[in-house]
Amino acid sequence: MSILKVALMGHPALRQVARKVDPAEIKTSVFQKLVDDMIETMREYDGIGLAAPQVHESVRLALIGIQDGGDDRTLRILPVVNPVVKPTGKSTAEDWEGCLSLPRLRGRVVRLDKISVKALDRRGNRVEFDLEGYPARVAQHEIDHLDGVLFVDRMKSFETLCFLDEYSKYWTDD
Ligand code: ZN
Repeated sequence: MSILKVALMGHPALRQVARKVDPAEIKTSVFQKLVDDMIETMREYDGIGLAAPQVHESVRLALIGIQDGGDDRTLRILPVVNPVVKPTGKSTAEDWEGCLSLPRLRGRVVRLDKISVKALDRRGNRVEFDLEGYPARVAQHEIDHLDGVLFVDRMKSFETLCFLDEYSKYWTDD
């Protein structure tokens, strides 16, 4: 496995609409290696999600991290291929987001609070699951990357856009 280079905001790879993955492609060693390398990259940089365009691969593949019990060591990583998001409720929530492609920045974004995700898993099987709260936010953020959308595009105002040090100093109780 290898740690991949992460594209930073301004790189055109982050603004392309990624192509759909042919299901026949999923079982190939090239694709499986991409999934493994993305998992290793996401862990290396303490990400909670990662999308293929962030590692310069314009395909509809993303990793969604779900923290069980609020502990980093129990981070579950769900790879999703050709994911489609549907709202399962009307409520929205506003919370802080960051992105490995926008290092050291944080900003508040409104997202759907409850969604269902339909996708193929890394074996090519159809999966559908419901997400709520922070994992739903992560999924929407990652799947936006597949359409060339960054979290700053979703901000209603840039008043909360801030650097990590200032975020830690003024905007959290941690
Ligand atoms: Zn991101």
